[in-house]
Amino acid sequence: MSEYVFPPPAPVYVTVHGHAEKFPVRRVFCVGRNYAAHAREMGGDPSREPPFFFSKPADAVIRGGADTPFPPATHNLHHEVELVVALGRGGAEIAPEAALGHVFGYAVGLDLTRRDLQDEAKALRRSWDMAKGFDASAVVGEIAPAAEIGHPGEGRIVLSVNGEPRQAGDLGDQIWAVPEVIAALSRLVRLAPGDLIFTGTPEGAGPLHRGDELLGEIAGVGSVRTKIV
Ligand code: MN
Repeated sequence: MSEYVFPPPAPVYVTVHGHAEKFPVRRVFCVGRNYAAHAREMGGDPSREPPFFFSKPADAVIRGGADTPFPPATHNLHHEVELVVALGRGGAEIAPEAALGHVFGYAVGLDLTRRDLQDEAKALRRSWDMAKGFDASAVVGEIAPAAEIGHPGEGRIVLSVNGEPRQAGDLGDQIWAVPEVIAALSRLVRLAPGDLIFTGTPEGAGPLHRGDELLGEIAGVGSVRTKIV
């Protein structure tokens, strides 16, 4: 007799650059508005907002290189290229000075967003879940271990669509740097190994269509590719 009423799903995972062992994904957290220029283009005031978080289901993750299905229920799918932090150690109430010791590595990610549903949710003061947490909404490239690349505090972050530049910024322009993001999130939830944190997108987020080929890159970290199908 089985322990479960049906077989539990296989773990969601992301590949680790240069290693056979996979990174098992536990949860996916995301920071909203973490670059001043993007906060302004979304109608916010970057100077007065502490970091805020939303999340996606772990099985919204798809690995870079795979095709991304255009999701249902939207006419305005947007790309957001982001630095993704992959945690190797968990904890609560983590001090900023200790936060980087909890990081396994970094990847380039795409926080895909049904912007029309998000705009509606904002207007009606409803949750962002269905704007942000839909199937295949979190594209994650290979994780580069921090033991090999260190902790990138600055570096160019860019996204092109069909070879045309769309987004560009620098990690150094984040309003809340990675140690502060980890510290702030760990005051809200007990973080765990396998948690991914999308750390926000620079300016230039914009619409996608079927057939678009995306390439996101962060200097010193790596890249992520997908095609919208
Ligand atoms: Mn985002």
